[in-house]
Amino acid sequence: MTEISSKARHGQGRNCVITRRAYFSASHRYWLPELSADDNASQFGPCSLSPGHGHNYELIVSLSGGLDSNGMVLNLSDVKQYIRNEITDQLDFRFLNEAWPEFDLTKDKGCLATTEALVRIIWIRLKPYLPIVALRLYEHPRLWADYLGNAMDAYVTIRTHFAAAHRLAKTELSQKENEAIYGKCARPNGHGHNYLLDVTVRGTIHERTGMVCDLLALQRLVDDLVIEPLDHTHLNKDIPYFTNCVPTAENIALYISDRLANPIKTIGASLHKIRLQESPNNAAEVYLEQPQINTTSEILAAIETT
Ligand SMILES: [Zn+2]
Ligand SMILES: [Zn+2]
Repeated sequence: MTEISSKARHGQGRNCVITRRAYFSASHRYWLPELSADDNASQFGPCSLSPGHGHNYELIVSLSGGLDSNGMVLNLSDVKQYIRNEITDQLDFRFLNEAWPEFDLTKDKGCLATTEALVRIIWIRLKPYLPIVALRLYEHPRLWADYLGNAMDAYVTIRTHFAAAHRLAKTELSQKENEAIYGKCARPNGHGHNYLLDVTVRGTIHERTGMVCDLLALQRLVDDLVIEPLDHTHLNKDIPYFTNCVPTAENIALYISDRLANPIKTIGASLHKIRLQESPNNAAEVYLEQPQINTTSEILAAIETT
């Protein structure tokens, strides 16, 4: 019998992606000195108010590499230490505009500490120490940015929700035939869900505003084109599109992506992904671009639902 070497037994050399989560609290203010008070207020809304406001940030660091002889990509206590030294100790309880020179707006090269600008700078500062493959930064549970090391390209996701009723049934089929396909979801009077909607856009981080697009404009588009028309409706009865198209989570996600794709281009970004969660047990995702963010880093998808 061939004896397995100690190294092989512990998986040395095999590849793996590992993830580490870290937290910090920090404040910031969106205020460009070259703009008037009125222009700052109209461009950045309440984010421009003095002296600023704060967030409890959550950072997800994904690292890739071959296992060492101890069965680890990296020793997690080292990973923790690098994240602490290079990032969280420097930012926790700080004013971001002053914490790092990258966000010093009195300098030409300074930019606003938006979620997407911040996650990119974190990448640049952490990369010399760790084999990062993806970073996600949550500003709060309904707004986060992903950065995959691709120059000024970043992904921003906003999460929102709506409530709607529907019935899964094809008009051309009998009740019995519909129940055979859709089960309880075909019951004649329908049922409802609190839908959770994630809209992910991709774009180039602006070197001064730090934004891939105007977030307030994006939120307005999602509200006007999706939430307001769909919220508190019976989809089959109130939305003409679903009179003849069965409103499964998949079809609702496709409908939403059709409504948003072109308008999002007008604000300078690209719609990358729609994720519609119908219940805690099922969700549908529509990707409008390649490569898909979750195939670039599967690990982010797993974290997302925890
Ligand atoms: Zn903020
Ligand atoms: Zn349903």
